[in-house]
Amino acid sequence: MGEFDLITHYFKTQQNPQRPDVALSIGDDCAILNCPPSQQIAITTDTMVEGTHFLPTISPKDLAYKALATNLSDLAAMGARPAWISLALTLPEVDQDWLKDFSETFFEVLTKENVSLIGGDTTQGKLHCISITAQGLLPKGKALRRDKARVGDYIFVSGTLGDSAAGLALLLGQKNTELKNYDAPIFAENYVVARHLRPTPRIALGQYLLDHDFSQCALDISDGLMADLTHILERSHCHAELDIEKLPYSEELTQLFSLATCEKFALTGGEDYELCFTVPEAKIQDFKKAILSSDLPVPVSCIGRITDGAENKITLQRNGKVVDFTFTQGFDHFSK
Ligand code: ADP
Ligand code: MG
Repeated sequence: MGEFDLITHYFKTQQNPQRPDVALSIGDDCAILNCPPSQQIAITTDTMVEGTHFLPTISPKDLAYKALATNLSDLAAMGARPAWISLALTLPEVDQDWLKDFSETFFEVLTKENVSLIGGDTTQGKLHCISITAQGLLPKGKALRRDKARVGDYIFVSGTLGDSAAGLALLLGQKNTELKNYDAPIFAENYVVARHLRPTPRIALGQYLLDHDFSQCALDISDGLMADLTHILERSHCHAELDIEKLPYSEELTQLFSLATCEKFALTGGEDYELCFTVPEAKIQDFKKAILSSDLPVPVSCIGRITDGAENKITLQRNGKVVDFTFTQGFDHFSK
């Protein structure tokens, strides 16, 4: 099977959601898109390289899911509505079983989110490599940006933290050194592994925060809360006070690991893809009331405040007392 047959067979398919704003899709030198006049386009690219971003043992279905989820998560973190996707795929060989599984899950996710695959590139290389560019729509002039945190804002996170790092530790077989409870039910292990392999992009939450003007500042947690919150502080020139005892953990995580390990995973473990966002003091009461009556699929937790302390730094406190942060910082590709 040659490159063009492969594209036609696996990617130029009926399963691809048809959107009226796609004027020209896969098959020409470029795709052509119509952007509604009152909207702006948010664009993000993420690349996943075998051995670096995913274990060589990952199934093609989980890989397709995760490659899309990480990109959709970036759109969610801006409050954008996902619309279009391009896929650059590097493969060591044409493995039809692999391509069938990969494309099946790929279009399942696209169908669920009504996102259209509009083009891409297919190349041969030594390792599997998946690079996705995702585009979403934003109301003109509005976005959840890293540079919009202000002194006095409350800091929130969605869902639970640390599950993904725990899942990865289990996949890597580190459980013997870290596990708290050797008798923890197998579903707890399965849960955190699933959270690592199939993170949920918080698309509805991002749009909710944007549409209701509850927040102007968010990002998705891909490198660990400490590292990612620091990105907000650097862009917004402010300080954060974090209350460690308020970090949200899943029941499954606490069944498996000691509290100290849960804290380490939550603060420094990457790939939770939960949103971290700020809510101004003036909106906090309305926000708390609104989320109680909303049908958002994920809970949110208040974990601290933005303050005027030392710029770009985080003060960690436990029950009001300052504690030392001695864990290593989040994942940085070029730090070693
Ligand atoms: P060109 O050489 O002009 O860049 P290609 O031969 O690489 O075009 O691709 C032909 C068409 O197939 C283009 O429309 C391109 O966007 C699309 N395409 C290539 N690979 C993929 C892929 N993995 N998924 C979706 N579309 C793809
Ligand atoms: Mg061309």
